[in-house]
Amino acid sequence: MTVPLDPPAVFAEFIERVACYDPTPESGPVAVLGLRTALGEATFQVSDHVVRAMCRALEAYRDPEDRGVCISCRGRRLDENLHCRDCGRLHGILGEVIAEHARRVAADPSYDPPA
Ligand SMILES: [Zn+2]
Repeated sequence: MTVPLDPPAVFAEFIERVACYDPTPESGPVAVLGLRTALGEATFQVSDHVVRAMCRALEAYRDPEDRGVCISCRGRRLDENLHCRDCGRLHGILGEVIAEHARRVAADPSYDPPA
């Protein structure tokens, strides 16, 4: 179940949490952020310090579904077993073990079909 979010409240709480560490609080706001959702809208005047903090927070965010990039097709849709939903490659330690075994089998003439 998805926990409901109140984006304006999250923004306000973030700003309050960060603004108190502004080394130059007298410099004032440098940006206005507007947020409009189905529940309403809010506007925030934010300092350079807060804008930088928001940018760093956004850059640091990783989606919980982000499991990296497939080394075969460069796709980003790896499931929880690190199985690529686009090309089928299996990643991780198990994927490497399976791939190595497949390479050995392919190189071993004793696995060739009888002539
Ligand atoms: Zn892939």
